[in-house]
Amino acid sequence: MNPFLNEYDTPFKIPPFEEINFEHYEPAFDAGMEEHQNEIQIIANNPSEPSFENTIEAMERSGETLDKVSNVFFNLLGSNTNDDMDALAIKISPKLSAHNDAILLNSNLFKRIEMIHNNKQSFNLSTEQNRLLDETYKRFVRSGANLDEESMKRLTQINSSLSSLSVKFDQNVLKETNSFSLVIDNKEDLDGLPEEEIRQAALLADSEGQNGKWVFKPTRVSMYPFLTYSTKRDLREELYNSYIQRGDNDNEFDNKEIIAEMVALRKEKAEMMGFESHSDYVLDNTMAKTPENVNNLLKTIWNPGIEKAKGEVQSMQKLITDEGANFQLAAWDWWHYSEKLRQEQFNFKEEEVKPFFSEEKVLAGAFDVAEKLFDITFTEREDLPKYRDNIRSFTVEDIDKKVIGIFYTDFTLRPNKGGGAWMSTFRSQSKFDGEVIPIVINVCNFPPKNADGVSLLSFEQVETLFHEFGHGLHGLLSDAQYPSLSGTSVTRDYVEFPSQMMENWAREPEVIKTFAKHYKTGETIPEELLSKISAAGTFNEGFATSEYVAAAHLDMAYHTNKEEIFDIDEFEDETLKDLGLIPEIESRYRSTYFGHIFAGGYSSGYYSYLWTEVLEADAFEAFKDKGLFDKETADKLKKYVYAAGNTDDLMTQYIRFRGKEPAIEPLLKKRGLN
Ligand SMILES: [Zn+2]
Repeated sequence: MNPFLNEYDTPFKIPPFEEINFEHYEPAFDAGMEEHQNEIQIIANNPSEPSFENTIEAMERSGETLDKVSNVFFNLLGSNTNDDMDALAIKISPKLSAHNDAILLNSNLFKRIEMIHNNKQSFNLSTEQNRLLDETYKRFVRSGANLDEESMKRLTQINSSLSSLSVKFDQNVLKETNSFSLVIDNKEDLDGLPEEEIRQAALLADSEGQNGKWVFKPTRVSMYPFLTYSTKRDLREELYNSYIQRGDNDNEFDNKEIIAEMVALRKEKAEMMGFESHSDYVLDNTMAKTPENVNNLLKTIWNPGIEKAKGEVQSMQKLITDEGANFQLAAWDWWHYSEKLRQEQFNFKEEEVKPFFSEEKVLAGAFDVAEKLFDITFTEREDLPKYRDNIRSFTVEDIDKKVIGIFYTDFTLRPNKGGGAWMSTFRSQSKFDGEVIPIVINVCNFPPKNADGVSLLSFEQVETLFHEFGHGLHGLLSDAQYPSLSGTSVTRDYVEFPSQMMENWAREPEVIKTFAKHYKTGETIPEELLSKISAAGTFNEGFATSEYVAAAHLDMAYHTNKEEIFDIDEFEDETLKDLGLIPEIESRYRSTYFGHIFAGGYSSGYYSYLWTEVLEADAFEAFKDKGLFDKETADKLKKYVYAAGNTDDLMTQYIRFRGKEPAIEPLLKKRGLN
């Protein structure tokens, strides 16, 4: 019996993880796609007049089996994979995208959607129904449903070229990264490096057949510690240059032509869709809406950011001079001297802090914040299905003890889990067809338990836990009619707002003290350590802001440019020079390895992180003004942000919560740029 093909017979209809075997996935995918396609055909060919119920709502109801198997498969592919699952993912992904294309380019279906959309006044729809109709219509149009046959054909060509070019871009970056090694065979050249970094470098050397030597690679993981601690300036320069030259070496892995081609194709596609530029096309579907709005934000933060960075250069230059050296600070010196400055100014080590942040207490602290703000409680349950050991499950109850969601945590680092941290769902909330409660998971890569059986976090990991928990709340508190609009189904430049928002509480001393208890003695974190943590928060922010804004600006420049771009190096140089970037700082990504925009989904979207930070910093001001747990403010935050999903225009929701549009000053203050 295939569990995916039957109704789940478990508490809260959680996927019956213990009964699911690898053999169940593929048949369920096949059955699920077939079922979905049949449902879509019935909707598209319905002889009755198109109505919201028989078209839009029917589409929301379709694809249940496919959702069930996809949700389990792709969650576990990320958090608990194996070779079989990896292979099945490669096999199933093109089938799934062909399945989706077949729906989006189904002309009978689109005609019905269009007819309802063009006559929406006559259907008497609620706000949320209107939103669902608009979003559905837009999704079809943006996929090319409106184009004539010839244009549709050209669009398919463009999409397929873009996708192979971006795969090639990615592979080139990987090859360039792998092909360079900084090999050290003289122990003296390791001067300044911590033991652990030396050990890792020896392991890397072994893996490259360079036994007895040490190897450093042009990756952030390998390069940053070297740039930070190595006292050998010439070696820092060599490694740094290998990093920033990736894809720009005029060899077979060069990415410059690929970039020029992608930029041109994106421009052509945008014009076919009736937009002036690729940025206009992308941003039309975001909160920012226009390139002008994005550029204004970048411009506003650029000046204070670069001014602060210039001050940072001066402080480091003074340090260099005080040491009796005689050179100008260069880009490859930045990490080394900023670390020296940081130690001089704040003088605390990560190791002092960690014993106060046990994973268990930090999570309890996050639950506590949610309880105070939103009147919900988390109760651990041992009887719910689990896909492996060492994960935890909770029911989430509202003030009337009604279960409103299920929350899983899978926190511990292990080899079959992807890197980083994320939130995901096994089921989205909805209620148009009977109440469906959400099943949400937070996955992190926190350190394994120490000898005392406790996992201890750095302060950055504490922030990560609160961040993912913020995404989690966005899923758990969701109160939408339709699954397509519920929870985190919002635009890229909004989705990080509810998550970054929760980090704010983790940075408030008053809140930290409630959970930062020494794991052995129970002692609360000392005031002195607490104030060092908060003081260090804005250190080096001029650099961080400048390198980020430079990259976001470069992204926008490529995708709003009117002329064809032939010389990538020249375009990048000119763009960043015009911006006013200083030689001591490179763009966070140079063009030829800017995977976010040429290999990932963030073209004209790298600004998003900053956009959501504006919202979050402005939103938190309301709590700073009225109290960290002010009831009225928290109620509005819950109603218009965490519960609202994508059920209405996002800026409108924000204004309902805040009473005004977001201001930028709180962000500048938070980054120490005011
Ligand atoms: Zn996030």
